[in-house]
Amino acid sequence: MCFCKAFFFSVFFFQIDIFTSIIYYPSTMYELVVESRFAAAHQLRGYKGKCENLHGHNWRVTVAVTAERLNDQGLAIDFADVKKALRDALDQLEHTFLNDIFPFTQINPSSENVAKWIYDHVGKKINNGNLEVSSITVWESESASASYFE
Ligand SMILES: [Zn+2]
Repeated sequence: MCFCKAFFFSVFFFQIDIFTSIIYYPSTMYELVVESRFAAAHQLRGYKGKCENLHGHNWRVTVAVTAERLNDQGLAIDFADVKKALRDALDQLEHTFLNDIFPFTQINPSSENVAKWIYDHVGKKINNGNLEVSSITVWESESASASYFE
């Protein structure tokens, strides 16, 4: 068999192997979603419009946590533990002027950046070999949200 044929067949069978792995050995995944709220003010520097002015929102935040395995009680994680991790993060923002809190002293406290900040803080408490914060969604109004995930 020439090199070209050997290469073709090795690529061909490698692809079949990946395909059968996906079909016959699916990985299971669970997702939990917890929601909470906080009130805070902000202003967007350099933004030409109303949001450049100091104003506040009643922010709504949802955290999604994924897990591959359940514990002996059939839980990915206790909802209370996710709520506490989220609350601990949001308490640092509650009733503040976000622009005074690092890193929003340097970057705009946009919904996108606030979502990333919460993602990092909640992730430090939740993430382990099985659990992972998969996304944070921040709603600054009933009709506008931004999500962060990696
Ligand atoms: Zn705003």
